[in-house]
Amino acid sequence: MSQTDYLPPARPATAPYWEATRSRVLVLQRCRACGLLIHHPREACPNCLGQDFAWQASTGRGVVHAVSVHHRPFEVMGPEECPYVVAFVELDEGVRFLSNIVGADRLAAAAGDRVRLVWKPVAEGYHLPVFAREDTTDQ
Ligand SMILES: [Zn+2]
Repeated sequence: MSQTDYLPPARPATAPYWEATRSRVLVLQRCRACGLLIHHPREACPNCLGQDFAWQASTGRGVVHAVSVHHRPFEVMGPEECPYVVAFVELDEGVRFLSNIVGADRLAAAAGDRVRLVWKPVAEGYHLPVFAREDTTDQ
């Protein structure tokens, strides 16, 4: 199995999120009861336990909050993708997002870097949201 074979888990709470990735749109869940913006998508609001949500598109831009570099591939990753970079990105909308930093300069990623969303295709037309440093031109 490779990353391109990855199929997102089918759960009602996350279905709108994953469906939007087919159109390369990153959506965030917003609680209609208290207004909290939420990521990752879930069944109940962590603030008020509300279960009625709207979905809004993200700008896909943010700042690296924390970053770590990993040198051993995990099972769905080829050795050519190592070392890879895992980061918490704080989106401009104010939610933190666990993802990867990609691109030739990914190993230079540091807290405080501006990043932009890029899409990594996976199975059946879905995409994984990953990030690239804003001052880079390659994916
Ligand atoms: Zn709420």
